[in-house]
Amino acid sequence: MRTKVVAGNWKMNNDAAQTKDLIAALISQKKTSQAKVMIAPTFPNLVNAVEAVKSSDIEVVAQNMHFAANGAYTGEVSAAMLKSVGVHTVILGHSERRAYFHETDELLAKKVNAALENHMQIIFCFGEELADRKSGNHENIVASQIKNALFHLDANAFKNIILAYEPVWAIGTGETASPEQAQDMHAFIRKTLADKYGNDLAESVTILYGGSVKPDNANEIFSKPDVDGGLIGGASLKAEDFYAIVNAI
Ligand code: PGA
Repeated sequence: MRTKVVAGNWKMNNDAAQTKDLIAALISQKKTSQAKVMIAPTFPNLVNAVEAVKSSDIEVVAQNMHFAANGAYTGEVSAAMLKSVGVHTVILGHSERRAYFHETDELLAKKVNAALENHMQIIFCFGEELADRKSGNHENIVASQIKNALFHLDANAFKNIILAYEPVWAIGTGETASPEQAQDMHAFIRKTLADKYGNDLAESVTILYGGSVKPDNANEIFSKPDVDGGLIGGASLKAEDFYAIVNAI
């Protein structure tokens, strides 16, 4: 049985008071699924968020980190710093980081290494753009994103990696991949892993779908056999919506 996960990527939303209020609202929701629940607030609010979730089964994760341990990297945050405030999981490779902050596969490979060296868990995001989907190149793009950033790792490392397939054209657009498109890609991702690391490993890795998951489509997407949960943006900012998605697992 693979671990099921629903993670809320808050992006650049929620100040200190809003973070506190949303976490209080999340904790008051009724959870009826076995899914592991994660939330990713902004850096300045991580310390308070970690404190606020203590009595719950919610895990606080970071949206990004730098690969260096410390030093002259103005504006950046290291793995050790995240761990020092009780954050043990980091989202890497989100399409907004790739698009707006020019994060390349090579850079992401360094971040992946730094996170693993610091014994952190990674939610590693990747996905094709609309033009790739239209030209039928989506599988090649996804395979190369995974290979370039992760295939230097040994099999053991995948115990600490959650994959998140997020087609760029479905993020924040209201347009989701159809459940069949998600399933096809997740099966392809598993095959890509199996070709390199064998079937057992491929079957053990949690693969999330992300891109306009909402309470009214979560059920159908999560019912697909290779979809192990979701990375949720917009709908993670309302406690009722987020838990409707959590409970769709
Ligand atoms: P969305 O974002 O749910 O708002 O489409 C998903 C994501 O970017 O992780």
